[in-house]
Amino acid sequence: MSGIWPGNTRCVVMLGFDVDGVSGALYQNPDTGRLPSFMSMREYGPSVGTPRILGMLGRHGIEASFYVPGYVAETHEQLLLDIREAGHEVAHHGYMHEPPATMTPEKEEEVLVRGIEIIERITGERPIGYRSPSWELSEYSLPFLLKHGFEYDSSMMGNDIPYIVDADGGDIVEIPVHWEWDDAPYFSYAPALGARSPMASPEHVYQVWSSGFEGAYEYGRAFVLTMHPWIIGRPGRIRMLDRLIRHMRSFPGVEFRRLDRVASMFRE
Ligand SMILES: [Zn+2]
Repeated sequence: MSGIWPGNTRCVVMLGFDVDGVSGALYQNPDTGRLPSFMSMREYGPSVGTPRILGMLGRHGIEASFYVPGYVAETHEQLLLDIREAGHEVAHHGYMHEPPATMTPEKEEEVLVRGIEIIERITGERPIGYRSPSWELSEYSLPFLLKHGFEYDSSMMGNDIPYIVDADGGDIVEIPVHWEWDDAPYFSYAPALGARSPMASPEHVYQVWSSGFEGAYEYGRAFVLTMHPWIIGRPGRIRMLDRLIRHMRSFPGVEFRRLDRVASMFRE
């Protein structure tokens, strides 16, 4: 089956890292701010996981996209500069990781503008990519994204290649995601928040993701992986990701791209 990509490209791999840090937990339940152990588990993401991920991507010479809530950006300005300096995209992920569907339209737009201003102040570049916290867009989100100059969203699941969504006010590129290609459903374990499902082994997740990639390759689609540095940045799991990247790179016609570059290419 032929694919949709130009030239000899058979599959485009897009690695996205949601650098949530403590933000999502604090938004979901402000009381978690009084739990130093739980907070430290989340803070591991920006402090330890993300630098480790940057090192690994650098060794492979591949580019990726990082979705950073405004609060995490403000409290880790150097990290944003390091991400940008390494050639990766810094994109929008709310201020305190607020799922848009949980806010009034007025509040949603306020949060969107605040996140844009923070990223632009730190990096000097306005973000053009957006991923909604928890992948919970509201009915107003896409029109707001268009109004504020975004080129793509990455929160929906309607295909396994980029597609155009007709939103009120114009068209926007959607780079679709899926829970299957996300680290959180397999590994997230947080008794403080009541999440006590057993953690999957890296081997199990390697099997799911490598077969997902091989399917995307066979059908000539996109392989969009969503990860969280506090989850995937742990030593055994990042080794698994490293192994997966080596596996994917062994196939001819595989390209690793930032999501904003694919969105621009797709729009053309
Ligand atoms: Zn997130």
